[in-house]
This record gives sequence, C-alpha cells and structure tokens, in this order.
Amino acid sequence: MFKSEYLNELFKSVSERNSSQHEYLQAIEEFFESMDFVVLDDPRICENAIMERLIEPERTIKFRVTWIDDLGKINVNRGYRIQFNSAIGPYKGGLRFHGSVNESILKFLGFEQTFKNALTGLPMGGAKGGSDFDTRGKSDREIMRFSQNFMLELYRHIGPDTDVPAGDIGVGNKEIGYMYGMYKKIQNEVTGTLTGKGLSYGGSLGRTEATGYGVCYFVNEMLKTYRNDDFKNKIVIISGSGKVGKYAALKAHELGAKVVALSDINGFVYDPNGLDLSIVKMLTEDSPEFSTKYTEYRPNATFNPVPSDIWKVPCDIALPCATQNELQIEGVKALVENGCFLVAEGANMPTTLDATKYLQHHDILFAPGKAANAGGVAVSGLEMSQNAMHYPWTYAEVDEKLELIMADIFKKAYTQARKYTDHRNLVVGANIAGFMRVYQAMLDQGVL
Ligand code: NDP
Repeated sequence: MFKSEYLNELFKSVSERNSSQHEYLQAIEEFFESMDFVVLDDPRICENAIMERLIEPERTIKFRVTWIDDLGKINVNRGYRIQFNSAIGPYKGGLRFHGSVNESILKFLGFEQTFKNALTGLPMGGAKGGSDFDTRGKSDREIMRFSQNFMLELYRHIGPDTDVPAGDIGVGNKEIGYMYGMYKKIQNEVTGTLTGKGLSYGGSLGRTEATGYGVCYFVNEMLKTYRNDDFKNKIVIISGSGKVGKYAALKAHELGAKVVALSDINGFVYDPNGLDLSIVKMLTEDSPEFSTKYTEYRPNATFNPVPSDIWKVPCDIALPCATQNELQIEGVKALVENGCFLVAEGANMPTTLDATKYLQHHDILFAPGKAANAGGVAVSGLEMSQNAMHYPWTYAEVDEKLELIMADIFKKAYTQARKYTDHRNLVVGANIAGFMRVYQAMLDQGVL
C-alpha cells in the first residue's frame, strides 16, 4: 500500500491493534501516504521509532461523568481526554460533546491536532477530548450540571502549562463558561486554562470567528497563488452552520463571494440570490433549526431535507464545515460535474480518502482541514498568550495575526508540496510541514 516497508508493517500492526477504530486508522492512512515521501530518505525516522511514537497517544484518560437531569434521574456518560503529543508544547485541542463521540473519533482528532498545532508555529502540543453527552434537547441547567461534573474529573489532568482544552462540536461559549467556572472554583486560581472563554473573563476577541475566518484567509491564499484570483463573485456552498460554517459564510460574503447554500443536520437551504446572512445569524443564535425556518423569511429560497444533497448545488468553491466523513464519493462527483474548482475543509476530516483522491485526480484545488481550519487553535494560542501577559489585544490586532498565521501555514504547506511532489498537493505539503516540526522536537528531546 505504501512504498516504504516500514510504514506498511507499522500500518498493519496498528490496524490489528485498533481494528474497530476506523476514523483513527483513516487519519493514519492519509498521513502515512504523505510520510512515504520522507521516510525513504531519512533512516533516523525508523531508527528512532518516530512513527510508532507519533501514532500512539502519550496518555488516554477515560472517566465516568455522573449527572442528574431535570426530572431527577441519574445519568452516566463517558468522558475522555486524549493527550496525544506534547513534543512542541502543552497539550491543546478541543472538547466535543456529541452522541457519536468515542475513542476512535477522539484519537483521529488528537492525532490531526498535533500537526495542525505545529503548522501554526505556536508552542502547542496535540490533544482532544469530550463526551458522548448530547447537548441537543438538554435544558441549560442540565448542560451546566453535566459540564461541571465533567470538569470535576478533568481538572486534575489539565493546567495552563499542561493541557489547555477548548470547544468543538457541541461545546461553545456556554459550555466553556460552565467548565471554566468549575475549574476555577476547584483550583482557586485564575490561569486561563481553557480557551474560547467569554470576553468578560479572559477570552480573546476574534476567537469565535477565528476558524471560519481562517478558512477563508487560507482559501484566499490558494486563489491568489494558483489562479491569480480572489473570492469576488465566486459561488460558495458550505455544510454546517455552526461555529465554523457560519463565520466562514460571513467572511466569504465580506470578501465578495455569493454564499448560496448552507446546511445543518436537518437539511440545507438554497438561496440562488445569495443567503441573507443576517437571517442566518439570527436563526442560528436562536435555535439549532436554522435550515427548516429560513424559507419562512426568504420565500424564494428552497429547503432540502437531505444535508448531503448540498454537494449537488453548482458552485465554484465548496467548504465542508460540519463533521467527519460528510463529503463522500457521490458528493465530490457532483461537485466536479457541476464545475466546482476548489474544496477547503473547515471541519476535521470531512472528506473521505477516496473522495479526496477523486478531487485531486480531477485537478480540483484541495485544502486539508489540518491546514485550512487551524485558525481556531491559532487564536486559542493567542488567547493563551494574552492570559499569560494579563493583557488583551484589540480585535484588529488578533485578526491581523490570524491572517498572517493562515498565510504562513499556506506558505509552509505549499513549499513542502513543491519540494516533495506537486505544488498543488497541499495534503502532502501540510502533513510534511507539520511533521517536520514535531519530528525535530522529538529527536532533540530523546527517546521518551
Ligand atoms: P458546531 O457544533 O458549532 O456546528 C456543527 C454544525 O454542523 C451544526 O450546524 C450541525 O447542525 C451541523 N452538522 C452536524 N452534522 C451534520 C451533517 N451530517 N450534515 C450537515 N450538517 C451537520 O461545531 P463546529 O462548527 O465547532 O465544528 C464543526 C467542525 O469543525 C468539526 O469537525 C470540528 O472538529 C471542526 N473544527 C472546529 C473548530 C472550532 O474552533 N470550533 C476548530 C477546527 C475544526 P445542527 O446544529 O443541526 O446539529
């Protein structure tokens, strides 16, 4: 499967040991395809068992979260923190609260986070965590009780120089606030552990928008470099209208694009004249059911109850910003057939392996999530700096830094892609650029 025998053997053994962890194996397979370009030339990688160490989390913490719902019933959920790699800094990565959460999903996310964080140039190791607790359908009080009980266990494993969690799917400002409050109460110190905090207690301006805006800054670099072009008049479709998708839509619109379709779990809306983003903003803030309500405000728009049909909408640029493996082979075939020329991942691993290959084979510009969506964690890194300095930056300062970081990530991925393979292959470029930094740190620190 890989050119390197070392990678073949290792992939065989990791597959046998983790045979039920499909997402984790998918992330490793994609990464190893890129590593083929470097391991054959550098025997130290094999001699120092770098890949063996990289794919195994440094620590997996699994715990019970017990909480009482509004009816007085006692509930038990599973909590996790996977501290993947601390070679270049304290563990850093989001917490996901969603019914689908399991060890495989958190391992793939923690693994990818390690290289994403390395790409930002900031000193942050990789981690991920969360719970199979679903925030949907829960009252505010239930979410508060769950978040507090989750932190009652997690607090002993984290700290400003140890591990700094943030949000992800199902974890936004509200959940971060409840967890942070409990952390502060137990520890009796205000260290800023957790990012994505509210502005009134140490959060950074620009963090809410950072992932979505960062995706657009990255796409802008791609358009400039590969096509001498920009967002103006481009037709854009976006899956997911959560923290990432919504702000990607707002930035794309601000940069001159027409965003015509946007989805959530219930379906997607198509508004041929361009979505009214003030309505999107209002609906996504008020209720999670934006797609089913949008047409009440814009009668010319249409609602389709199948979210994955969004990929059939003709567009220039597609931004999958919802969840893993949401863009599959049928979706990319429709995109290619309808003239889409660029796909950038706002979500983590939203495109399946065969779908990614199909896009590359058809010469579609493709930005992998670990590069394109790194803006969120980059601004989380800036939030850590501001907390450590006890001095907040203005929105303009943060946004300017974010734009520079995204341009720099593109440059690193592009440079490595050009060095090792085709200059358009940002999957290989991003994997190698992220790997090189972590690899060097691991070599320097000895066998651990
Ligand atoms: P949110 O929970 O805020 O939003 C997720 C959105 O995706 C919601 O609109 C949800 O709909 C929708 N959705 C979920 N599943 C599907 C589906 N199968 N089809 C269509 N829509 C769907 O999460 P985030 O925006 O924070 O995260 C989205 C992705 O981006 C994840 O992969 C995450 O790991 C990644 N990411 C997030 C970062 C961040 O800073 N938040 C940073 C980097 C990556 P509904 O509301 O109806 O459930």
